[in-house]
Amino acid sequence: MRLGEDEETAVRAVYLAVLAVPIVLVLAIWLAGVGSDDAFRRIALPGLLLINGPLMVLVWRRRVSLAVLGLWVFLGPTAWVLGRLVTWELAPSTRPDNFGLLIAALAWYGVVFALAFLVFGTRRGVKVAIGSYLLLYLGATVSALSGMLADSGSIGVVVFLAAGHFVLILVVWVLARNVERLASARARAELMESQATTDPLTGIANRRRVDEELLRQVARARRYRQPFAAVLADLDHFKAVNDTYGHDVGDEVLVTAVARLRSAIRGTDLLGRWGGEEFVILAPQTSHADACALAERCRVAITDHGHEDPGKRITASFGVATLDVDEDDARSLTRRADLAMYAAKSEGRDRVVGIAGPSETGEVDRLPRQVVGEDA
Ligand code: GH3
Ligand code: MG
Ligand code: MG
Repeated sequence: MRLGEDEETAVRAVYLAVLAVPIVLVLAIWLAGVGSDDAFRRIALPGLLLINGPLMVLVWRRRVSLAVLGLWVFLGPTAWVLGRLVTWELAPSTRPDNFGLLIAALAWYGVVFALAFLVFGTRRGVKVAIGSYLLLYLGATVSALSGMLADSGSIGVVVFLAAGHFVLILVVWVLARNVERLASARARAELMESQATTDPLTGIANRRRVDEELLRQVARARRYRQPFAAVLADLDHFKAVNDTYGHDVGDEVLVTAVARLRSAIRGTDLLGRWGGEEFVILAPQTSHADACALAERCRVAITDHGHEDPGKRITASFGVATLDVDEDDARSLTRRADLAMYAAKSEGRDRVVGIAGPSETGEVDRLPRQVVGEDA
């Protein structure tokens, strides 16, 4: 079971609390001076402090794995109860007059059973919890039969605890299963969400996501009267790549082109697949001149200078349009970017053409073509 950052922090907090409880108990027992002549307590209590104290520091600093912690927290109480029973068997003189503390240890097992689910996950947790439950209460039954839990009051309390713990295990099991189902439903939903908005070939935003983001960004730019630009990029003569080298090489070229475009844009820009071999960059807070410069950066990045095989050399044509916050909507903006891109194609490809918003010059703004690659 892999935990997310939040879940791991929560689990560590639970362990911290569980490790702290025995420390508080031990200090209380010492302060009250109970059983100071008992060898088990003289050795085991300081031992517990020596282990739990440093362990808490390690948990706090995230220096110890959850698996190790889980085993200690789960097995520790078991060792404790078994140790008590064994020392009482070996040294009957140390047996207490009443079994209050033993019963308190049994009650603590409620925590241990619940922890089994945290330590071992839901499926194994329920088996471990029920297994240790059977062992524990079998031990208690044997102790009762051998006369150790002789007084009927103690036996009554143990029977109550056994019934309560059984219900507790069932409740925690149902809760853990529900949590697990919720978590896997959430993971499925997140996966579907990301599949619905991601282009499977290139891993960038798909057309659906781009359309949503475009509407949102245009609305925001109009509302706050901020600059906004859309850049369309279309690979040049891409059909020839497919025809010459096959579709798989064509796919590789698309992936390469995306990596190069990615390296040229800012973190706040959104790169998406507009369709086939066409890509779009949404650039918020970007003036027309800056958007043309961005497209030019992309053009240079995408062009494969000195590729050994000219047929595989990638170039692209770019169309830039900037939003007129009074006149434009998403459709008119992308239509203008498309117009600009086709202008770049008809003027010879491998170039950037920008058309500013209608209230600006309204003229086609051509960047001087920079000669690269073959023509250089
Ligand atoms: P132009 O310079 O005018 O843009 O020429 P072009 O050949 O790039 O233009 P055209 O639109 O005629 O061809 C685009 C090609 O892109 C056709 C199509 O088979 C190919 N294509 C579209 N999507 C994919 C894809 O996912 N993988 C591959 N390998 N090819 C694709
Ligand atoms: Mg095309
Ligand atoms: Mg093309």
